[in-house]
Amino acid sequence: MPMEQSRQLPAGAAPEPHRIVIVGGGFGGLEAVHRLAGAPVRITLVDRRNHHLFQPLLYQVATASLATSEIAWPIRHLLRDRPEITTLFATVNGVDTSEHRVLLEDGGALPYDTLILATGARHAYFGHDEWEPFAPGLKTLEDATTLRRRILVAFERAERETDPQRQAALMTFVIIGEGPTGVELAGTIAELARDTLPPDFRNIDTHKARVVLIEAGPRVLAGFADDLSAYARRSLESLGVEVMLGKPVTACTADGVVFGDSNLAAKTVIWAAGVRASPAAEWLGAPADRAGRLIVNPDLTVPGHPEIFAVGDTVTISAPDGNPVPGIAPAAKQEGRYVAGVIKARLRGDKTAAPFRYAHAGSLAQIGKRLAVIDFGRIKLRGTLAWWIWGIAHIYFLIGLRNRLSVAISWLWIYLRDQRSARLITQGSSKVVR
Ligand SMILES: Cc1cc2nc3c(=O)[nH]c(=O)nc-3n(C[C@H](O)[C@H](O)[C@H](O)COP(=O)(O)OP(=O)(O)OC[C@H]3O[C@@H](n4cnc5c(N)ncnc54)[C@H](O)[C@@H]3O)c2cc1C
Repeated sequence: MPMEQSRQLPAGAAPEPHRIVIVGGGFGGLEAVHRLAGAPVRITLVDRRNHHLFQPLLYQVATASLATSEIAWPIRHLLRDRPEITTLFATVNGVDTSEHRVLLEDGGALPYDTLILATGARHAYFGHDEWEPFAPGLKTLEDATTLRRRILVAFERAERETDPQRQAALMTFVIIGEGPTGVELAGTIAELARDTLPPDFRNIDTHKARVVLIEAGPRVLAGFADDLSAYARRSLESLGVEVMLGKPVTACTADGVVFGDSNLAAKTVIWAAGVRASPAAEWLGAPADRAGRLIVNPDLTVPGHPEIFAVGDTVTISAPDGNPVPGIAPAAKQEGRYVAGVIKARLRGDKTAAPFRYAHAGSLAQIGKRLAVIDFGRIKLRGTLAWWIWGIAHIYFLIGLRNRLSVAISWLWIYLRDQRSARLITQGSSKVVR
């Protein structure tokens, strides 16, 4: 039902509030929820996880620097003061556009007047899904704790391994992908091996761990200015990371990776390259780009469906410079905010929405515990100052004072003492990694 029409009501009944269903409580969905405060609507927010996740710090959980609860919050709790919102823990697997219903995996359905799809993206293996068991990616809390387990168990097994070749493979960590996640993982694993672990082991020298960053393209942090990218590469190398550029990976197996014409034995391989959008475009039968991202109208509605909006990593739209809006949290938030504004205006009877306009605030990446790069366009920062700004910005964007304090203390401890508080292997020694 178009949102301007009212539903059939018994005579004398108060008009029912407009029903909005939001799928996804990530950055885009949650921002839309916040910006719809005060509107005459009833909102149902449905997510297949019970928590909102601060993905930019996931790699810190994977590398035992932060605990899971420091970067994730129960969505239900975040929205406890909004009586007009119902939070549902369920997985969406389709949309019935003709009946205006969101379809749930368990057979349920949610009627909507307006729908916002904010279902994000996952990592993709460029047609090689068979690599996933050997080179897991990082997108969810489960991914992060799985990686943490693999990294820590590799050191534990190396401590007991007597065969030098197998020990070397256990102490070789490969990260595939040059973006901020790949760089951040490589730098932090190198610091874990170099600064945190050495005093705790007796049979191995963790300084000898190899951290190898492999990338098919010509530079790391390709989205940053050339000089920052070169600085990031030098900084990684100063931490002991081996940076292999221009070498596409052609195989990932239980024994390691093949890249260029090299075969590298490694028991821990991490995938940090390539994303694939959620299947929102498939649910709607709508046009999508090669990564499965919905191609939306300038007002972020789905072509042919003015009552359906889509935001965040699951859509593609051009920025004012003609390039696609990047798949980053501020973009998803700006889109969520914009869509909330359009819906509020429509409810007031104003149907003339100005097109969405993305404003890029800057790009940030941490390289090590005292090094970062920041690209604000005209202003470019690197080194320790950039690291402090990076840290303050991330603490600012976390939710809640307790988490901000907790993360700040964890980082201070790493900064001063090299101790990482979350070095826990939670599933016992009998569950062998692979
Ligand atoms: C490891 C990593 C590091 C990153 N680092 C940065 C960074 O440093 N800076 C930055 O700006 N951005 C970073 N990003 C990108 C940023 O996190 C995303 O751009 C942002 O999360 C996109 O927001 P979104 O709302 O589109 O999707 P998400 O935040 O991913 O939210 C999608 C939500 O939809 C839910 N969902 C998905 N499918 C379904 C379904 N079928 N049914 C119900 N619920 C569903 C999910 O559970 C999730 O809660 C990083 C991403 C990753 C993975």
